[in-house]
Amino acid sequence: MGAIVVTGVPGVGKTTVMNAAAEAKKLKIVVFGTVMFEIASKAHKVKSRDEMRKLPPETQKQVQRQAAREIAYLGDVIVDTHCTVRTPKGYLPGLPAWVLESLKPSVIVLVEAEPTEIFGRRARDATRERDTENVQDIARHQELNRAAAMAYATLTGATVKVVFNHDNRVQEAIQQILPVVQ
Ligand code: AMP
Ligand code: MG
Repeated sequence: MGAIVVTGVPGVGKTTVMNAAAEAKKLKIVVFGTVMFEIASKAHKVKSRDEMRKLPPETQKQVQRQAAREIAYLGDVIVDTHCTVRTPKGYLPGLPAWVLESLKPSVIVLVEAEPTEIFGRRARDATRERDTENVQDIARHQELNRAAAMAYATLTGATVKVVFNHDNRVQEAIQQILPVVQ
């Protein structure tokens, strides 16, 4: 089957939507950022997952490659990750060729919401060290992620599914993602 890759900008609520999908198909969810953090906290002494995107891009890519290799061993899983990661040196591709080769995704899901909704959700989440982005930055990041997802699809033949997760309409988002895992 290949991996089901679920992406979305920070704060879009992809974890909520994905948990429901994983439950429906009894699939295991692997959070790419968690696997990277286990590697980076030992090798590069980062103290939080939100510190990783501040590491030099070469270091991030090294950790990313290692994480993708580890995840590939797990078989058919849902991978919670990012199409692009916003770093001080620009957007880092979340699924460059070497990650795609390891994960072999059959479908790439983009979870999206209105930029204003995402802005509000980030403001309410005190558990994370989110970067401060305005509504327009968030809109641009989502546009860029669509372009990146289609580029990844071109390399792999994966399909790209856009799922909208609007405020107070999580059930609708879940209904949109279910056909992907069935
Ligand atoms: P998350 O908890 O999903 O926001 O992920 C935490 C951090 O992991 C992100 O801010 C990135 O630094 C890193 N990360 C997650 N997925 C990727 C990826 N595919 N490529 C590079 N970095 C990633
Ligand atoms: Mg998450």
